[in-house]
Amino acid sequence: MAITATAAVLRAKGGPLSVEDTVVEDPRPDEVRVRLVGSGVCHTDLGVVATAVPEQLPIILGHEGSGVVESIGGDVTGLAPGDHVVLSYAYCGECDNCRCGVQMHCRSFMGLNFGGARADGSTAYRAGGDEVHGHFFGQSSWSQYVVTSPRNVVKVDPSLPLEILGPLGCGIQTGAGAVLNTLDPRAGSSLAVFATGSVGLSAVMAAKVAGCGPVIAVDPDPRRRALALELGATHALDPSGEGVVEEINDITKGGADYSVDCLGLPSVVRRALECLASPGVCASVGFQGVDNDISFNQGHLLFGRTLVGVIEGDADPHAFIPRLLDLFQAGRLPFDRLIQTFPIVKINDAVEAAQQGQVVKAVVTFGD
Ligand SMILES: [Zn+2]
Ligand SMILES: [Zn+2]
Repeated sequence: MAITATAAVLRAKGGPLSVEDTVVEDPRPDEVRVRLVGSGVCHTDLGVVATAVPEQLPIILGHEGSGVVESIGGDVTGLAPGDHVVLSYAYCGECDNCRCGVQMHCRSFMGLNFGGARADGSTAYRAGGDEVHGHFFGQSSWSQYVVTSPRNVVKVDPSLPLEILGPLGCGIQTGAGAVLNTLDPRAGSSLAVFATGSVGLSAVMAAKVAGCGPVIAVDPDPRRRALALELGATHALDPSGEGVVEEINDITKGGADYSVDCLGLPSVVRRALECLASPGVCASVGFQGVDNDISFNQGHLLFGRTLVGVIEGDADPHAFIPRLLDLFQAGRLPFDRLIQTFPIVKINDAVEAAQQGQVVKAVVTFGD
């Protein structure tokens, strides 16, 4: 039976989002339908709101969902109605990269995550009798019910606070994974994080988990710097002045072993490279669009410095999200401190609060 759901639909570039009754199809044999409990607001959602072209609209966005499996297709194994789940990104499971365990580089990543439809071009969502684009990151989790692939679905312990777990599927996984998976720093090494929103603060918490020190947070917002210090940073710097690279050199006595750029702006990536010791590695996680040229000094890079781009924290969600939850339960990754919830009917307030930086991570909730 198709099911009626409340969803936030983007009907025009720039918004606002319209909260509407939608109809969500039954899952196909290889799909599951999930009743959402919470969904994060990520900057990738905001980017689509700001830049959507008419062919993409109307669309249901959202890609940090958590909820309960409502029904499963006949071919699905390993999941059952009632399971508590976190949703992550989409991948095909069949291409060379997926088979090698680097599904964050799936050959079909762009189409499956940004195409607004299933791989065959269809959509499970309708509103007012018309088709609505969906399947954003295989999710469209700003809908109370979503149809998704078991590949997107990670089963979690039902004793966990399900409402706030959705950001594990993108933002938290991205920041923590850049440190724990991509950089994998040795204990005692120094690490600097540029921009401490939800991704950067997740990187800070992960650096503490890895035993790094000093851990240096760089952010112009004094509230974010204060939070970074509470979550594991040993130093917090305001980049507004010119001297942040020199300050990092002083603190680390010659440069950071590792850095994480969470913005992608050319000036920030350059500083994240310039602050590195020799050798040193910078993980660039920020995204400012596909046309984003950066210049830097090759003579600096030559001495063993590495710049690496990171998608989704280099994480296999099925292994990494349980690892992050173990850390959370041990009190070592308190990501709940980043989150503020809004009911789905207030999603435009949540989007505005995220845009203005008033919240670190907004999560919309659907009630029980
Ligand atoms: Zn693939
Ligand atoms: Zn995201």
